[in-house]
Amino acid sequence: METLQPKLIHTILIANRGEIASRIIRTCRRLGIRSIAVFSDADRNWPYVKDADAAVYIGESTPAKSYLNQDKIIEAALGMGADAIHPGYGFLAENASFARRCAEEGIVFIGPNPASIAAMGSKSAARELMIQHQVPVVPGYQGEDQSEETLRAEATRIGYPVLLKAVAGGGGKGMRIANSEAELSGAIHAAQSEAERAFGDGGLILEKYIASGRHIEFQIFGDRHGNIIHLNERECTIQRRYQKVMEESPSPVLTDELRAKMGLAAVKAAQALSYDNAGTVEFIFDDTTGAFYFLEVNTRLQVEHPVTEAVTGLDLVEMQIESAQGFPLKISQEEVQSNGYALECRLYAEDPENHFLPATGHIYRFEYPELSGLRMENAVQSGTEISTYYDPMIAKIIVHDKDRQLVIRKMRYVLSQMICLGTITNQYFLKKILEHPDFQSGTYNTHFIEEKLLSAETDGEKEVDLPFFAIVACLKRWAKREKSRRLLRSIPSGWRNSFYDFQQEEYQYRGEALSVRYRYLSGVFIFLVGEEEFRVSLISESDSAIEIETDGIRYNATVIQDGADIFNHHPEKGSIRLTVAERFPGKEKTDHAGGYTAPMPSTVVRIPVKEGQKVAKGDVLVVLSSMKMENSITAGEDGTVGEIYASEGASIKAGFVLLEMKK
Ligand code: ADP
Repeated sequence: METLQPKLIHTILIANRGEIASRIIRTCRRLGIRSIAVFSDADRNWPYVKDADAAVYIGESTPAKSYLNQDKIIEAALGMGADAIHPGYGFLAENASFARRCAEEGIVFIGPNPASIAAMGSKSAARELMIQHQVPVVPGYQGEDQSEETLRAEATRIGYPVLLKAVAGGGGKGMRIANSEAELSGAIHAAQSEAERAFGDGGLILEKYIASGRHIEFQIFGDRHGNIIHLNERECTIQRRYQKVMEESPSPVLTDELRAKMGLAAVKAAQALSYDNAGTVEFIFDDTTGAFYFLEVNTRLQVEHPVTEAVTGLDLVEMQIESAQGFPLKISQEEVQSNGYALECRLYAEDPENHFLPATGHIYRFEYPELSGLRMENAVQSGTEISTYYDPMIAKIIVHDKDRQLVIRKMRYVLSQMICLGTITNQYFLKKILEHPDFQSGTYNTHFIEEKLLSAETDGEKEVDLPFFAIVACLKRWAKREKSRRLLRSIPSGWRNSFYDFQQEEYQYRGEALSVRYRYLSGVFIFLVGEEEFRVSLISESDSAIEIETDGIRYNATVIQDGADIFNHHPEKGSIRLTVAERFPGKEKTDHAGGYTAPMPSTVVRIPVKEGQKVAKGDVLVVLSSMKMENSITAGEDGTVGEIYASEGASIKAGFVLLEMKK
């Protein structure tokens, strides 16, 4: 290994966006390093752009034209006099050719050496390397022979259920389970074609499927002098569709002995790669046997790195910069500490009540309480616009304290009090996870969300108190009307009027109508919502806040109206968007009875059908992409494709009629 003379970095260009850009900028500032942000059209007004010391426009919003465009990034770095590039995570972070290109241009790439990135780019090569270095891997197959016959024989040898993974995979794409030989052929074809589409490589590996597994990963760190340490584990078992939702440290299941054993295996894996920066060794931990197996090495800073920073007290971005400058690690394995407990929740703009479809929107209000031990890594602020182009993660909430129960209490409080109005988020879904007894006791596996929170029994549970929010909306609108009436007539203030007849207002919530009747009598509003009656006093109202009293209890809610949309939040009642129903709904809305519409703003990826084609129920009609996720619109019943309005590659709004079907 070459040992080099340390060389100070003066300017870092951050080839990324959102919260991770802001987070890297913070460390740069602390170290006296000039930071340069890059931005696309969609990100012009994002907070991270202002956070940086300077910012450069690099192109259109589509990632390929900006954040993934190596020429533009290198040009921006050279143009701004940057001597280093930090790739963050995603985009160019695990791209060995980009890391090499930086070196050729005389720019320091803040990450591991390109050879170790390349070595981990293929799941089959990674398995081979780990087997050579006696790191335990899941029993499996990673050979070149991809014939169905060989895969079948290997699956039988491994024993069902088996998991098929894309050799070039990542982000849970191209993964399929085959529970028996009968399912294998279908699973192979599905995994191959998904892998082909996502990565341009249909190669597969097979692994024994660990039915009750936990995802436990170790943070590793190396320098350019051959030192490698680990910074303990993060438990990332709370997942949905193989994607992490919450991460914690320490893991509720690791004993000191197991931790030491797994840590050693992680360091061995890193040594196999001559690893020289921040990385993560992921393991799957078999809950039933206590055995653990190598999954992969992520050759970058992870989304969940703050959990490790909280318990170790280290700044991982600073350590990355130190290693990249050529300095040796400042701490030894023995000096690594783990204090207390830390938990991270990923706040996504997505709709848990509608298959977690990503959501867009204008954030009217983003606020959270100040708590000791809370670290908010937010990509957005009040006023930020969420586009369809990028990942829907809008904030990471990290809480650190003495023990797990204390942290859970604080996190629940933050998730209740936090206001994020203007889009739909998973805020209350995260809270539901924390409130589940299995999460609280730490007894869960990777199926927890799917089995405990999304099963048939929990389906349809209302997250919000609809009558409460309908009342709040009515009073907000009433107070606004009252104010303008008073202004117009210059009547002295004070709500004097009474009305004896019921007024009626109609709202829509998720497409369902909600009717509210109310009247005002001697200072009290009588509300009728469905069968229920409520007596409510309006205590105060201002800008976006409203205070009401009912049954002797005071409630402070946040209400923001934008056109017909009313965004409401109350810590105990939830967050909700109500729409004031139009009295005379537009005709065009009902004209497309046989039409299929886009559920959200998207890009049309593919239209596998033609006009006049006969299709069966369940056939894919259109594939849409929004925020890195593909969604298929399928036929609800048998029929013939009528007129097609969508075209491949088009950017469309929510509600756009894609095509029509004839019976
Ligand atoms: P990707 O690179 O696509 O993220 P990983 O190999 O990291 O794929 O696995 C993602 C997730 O899939 C893991 O966190 C775990 O929940 C699950 N998983 C992976 N391998 C196995 C396995 N052999 N058995 C059971 N679950 C697995």
